[in-house]
Amino acid sequence: MTEPQTTSASATTSPTATAGLVEKTPLERYQPPAKPSLVGLSRAQLTEALASIGVPAVRRKMRVQQTWHWVYVRGARQFDAMTSISRELRAALDRHFTLARPEIVAEQVSADGTRKWLLRLPGEHSLDRPHEIECVYIPEADRGTLCLSSQVGCTLACSFCHTGTQRLVRNLTPGEIVGQIMVARDCLDDWLGAARLDASPAASGASQEGKGGQRLISNIVMMGMGEPLYNFEAVRDALLIAADGDGIAISKRRITLSTSGVVPNISRAGAEIGCMLAVSLHAVSDELRNDLVPLNRKYPIKELLDACRNYPGLSNARRITFEYVMLKGVNDSLTDAKALVKLLKGIPAKINLIPFNPWPGTKYECSDWERIEKFSEIIFNAGYASPVRTPRGRDILAACGQLKSASEKLSARERLALRAMAMTD
Ligand code: SAH
Ligand code: SF4
Repeated sequence: MTEPQTTSASATTSPTATAGLVEKTPLERYQPPAKPSLVGLSRAQLTEALASIGVPAVRRKMRVQQTWHWVYVRGARQFDAMTSISRELRAALDRHFTLARPEIVAEQVSADGTRKWLLRLPGEHSLDRPHEIECVYIPEADRGTLCLSSQVGCTLACSFCHTGTQRLVRNLTPGEIVGQIMVARDCLDDWLGAARLDASPAASGASQEGKGGQRLISNIVMMGMGEPLYNFEAVRDALLIAADGDGIAISKRRITLSTSGVVPNISRAGAEIGCMLAVSLHAVSDELRNDLVPLNRKYPIKELLDACRNYPGLSNARRITFEYVMLKGVNDSLTDAKALVKLLKGIPAKINLIPFNPWPGTKYECSDWERIEKFSEIIFNAGYASPVRTPRGRDILAACGQLKSASEKLSARERLALRAMAMTD
């Protein structure tokens, strides 16, 4: 069998928008893409996709490798850009597939460099209204972290979390999870061959992260909307694509999955993904945790910590991060701090104190700064690193679930203004 022949090599215009050029389709005219996107397919699925359009078995491995490189190292948005692939195959790919990423509804840039994207995804069924999710990029001196969503909304309803109050819930596909990385790299000009990288003296030679390159996105955290361990297979498949050394190539040690405590899937995450684990603990007694994280009624603290002790690959070099949101008068007493230290004894751990990020209608307040410092001191004196996660992007509401809710309340004109603002920043 030979590769498919065609007379036309015209490229599809991807519905994806880039940072400065966001063309939003009005909600009522939104049409989910007709052709499937290759973004988010595993190597095995990509092999099948190529087979389905007639790529002969003997060439499939090479073609998969080439396509993978164009999609995940170079960030190709059109098949025509894949110059190492024959013109005929590019045209055939273009007839059957796209390289579409989620559509950008809004991009906001904070004064501290944090960027947040509101992205539109198709509804579950073709006639459903589209969904919106968010993705945040947080630059720091030594790293750039991308915070990804795993679900539209969340079923778990933690009492301090705004995402849990959102009505619509659906799991994201691997393509929609990987798609968030693609969008961020597009907007940040963070692909091999991009002008930004080419201009950088450090970009000579291999520009892969960990190989001397200067990629802006060096770390991934699954800490956006949703509970990643309730969308296990899709999150696993997406993170394995992100970690693939011949593609996006973000090391598994730089990928952290945060869970509210879905105990049965914790060991699976270690075994099947091998990424770093963060656990949203937030309370030291079952009584209080039942209230803050209702999933605790199903998987109480003892079971959760046992699963942590047995996390595959756990060591002093690969510690679990315990997240603890600081809620004034609720979980922030110094007795709580001492109990926290006692509770985590024997587990290689880091403790992340997160200042509560308030949202309209919440009954909670953030602990006073002085209290957070005292709390942190007790933990530090017990031998744990206890960084207080600095609130980032406050001016663009960069907390879990907040850009989405802000944008939902905006009129069409206000949304437009928001986008225009993002474009001029
Ligand atoms: N569902 C997962 C991951 C997403 S939430 C989980 O719960 O771990 C990511 C982190 O943000 C969690 O630690 C969560 O408890 C925290 N969080 C949620 N709402 C917050 C708020 N309003 N202020 C501060 N942290 C919040
Ligand atoms: Fe869901 Fe996490 Fe928010 Fe709880 S904190 S409602 S698990 S996203």
